[in-house]
Amino acid sequence: MGNVTSQGDQPRRVVVVGSGPAGLTAALYAARANLVPLVLEGEPSSTGDQPGGQLMLTTEVENYPGFPEGVMGPVLMGQMRSQAERFGAEIVGAKVTRAKFQDGGPHTLWYTDPSSGEEVHVEASAVIVAMGAQALRLGLARELELTGHGVSTCATCDGFFFGGQDIAVVGGGDSAMEEANFLTRFASSVTIVHRRRELRASKIMQERAFANPKIRFAWNKVVTELVGDQKLEGVRLRDVADGSEELLDVTGLFVFVGHSPSTSILKGQVDLDAEGYVVTRAGTTATSVDGVFAAGDLADKRYRQAVTAAGSGCMAAIDVERWLEARV
Ligand code: NDP
Repeated sequence: MGNVTSQGDQPRRVVVVGSGPAGLTAALYAARANLVPLVLEGEPSSTGDQPGGQLMLTTEVENYPGFPEGVMGPVLMGQMRSQAERFGAEIVGAKVTRAKFQDGGPHTLWYTDPSSGEEVHVEASAVIVAMGAQALRLGLARELELTGHGVSTCATCDGFFFGGQDIAVVGGGDSAMEEANFLTRFASSVTIVHRRRELRASKIMQERAFANPKIRFAWNKVVTELVGDQKLEGVRLRDVADGSEELLDVTGLFVFVGHSPSTSILKGQVDLDAEGYVVTRAGTTATSVDGVFAAGDLADKRYRQAVTAAGSGCMAAIDVERWLEARV
């Protein structure tokens, strides 16, 4: 089973798993506290895994404070990465495949070493898990390619770019209703495409959507095709009842069919809630295991913003620093 990667024979003081805004902010703070963090940043996958997190899949970010003209998602993540490295964070392009945590540590993480291709493990006194969450997708051809070019999973991020345009939203839950309402601030019309005749959303959210004159519903419909080369020009819909097809002329498609936290390696290791999100002690980033801390979207189904993820990464690094200090 591979070799041990550690600082001498000692466990690393802190290993950060994940490299979105939460992981890289945690790394920055831990590095500036002289903890020489190792960051296991993940690897890209066809299912949407992405070092750098969800911002790597967006184009312009206009709601991250400090960038009055906006900033491209990948550029922002590149800058966060450089900033963490500048203070001594060691970033390795590897995806953790297994974790074993124990109260008080040391904790063990297994991954494939990118230079040797061998499975190695690292021991750490403290671990910050920050693997994020993935917006679920429809699984259509070119869906990832057109993300940021008409297809989006974040209305707060991208709604502004659809001023005066006709767009569609997929989903029948609270997210779809809330975001469809929000999108009518910009778009001329929003068509909610839902695969059934009834919504899953709470009554109040449904009523708000029904009362909005800019929202219409395409019931019993699923999206079967994204039309357009460089950017979205329309979507093909199929009626699930009679199989008929139609082309919906829209320049934007917002997909809100749920989120999935990237916590598969944490199952059986730390407490997760029924939906798989990491449970943290209120007001802190502490998990159910002493010495394991959680930051970002894998522990947050409410806010899911880059800036809130970054904030919780900062909190996790400070929690780690204090936790390590208390043990000396
Ligand atoms: P939900 O799981 O509640 O809803 C997902 C929706 O997407 C469902 O209507 C589902 O259809 C549809 N869907 C799923 N997969 C597909 C697919 N492949 N193709 C087409 N449609 C699909 O997720 P939400 O993100 O909406 O909400 C998550 C949680 O967050 C909920 O508990 C919600 O109440 C909460 N929330 C609360 C808000 C608030 O209170 N303001 C705002 C946003 C979220 P079907 O119904 O047929 O299963």
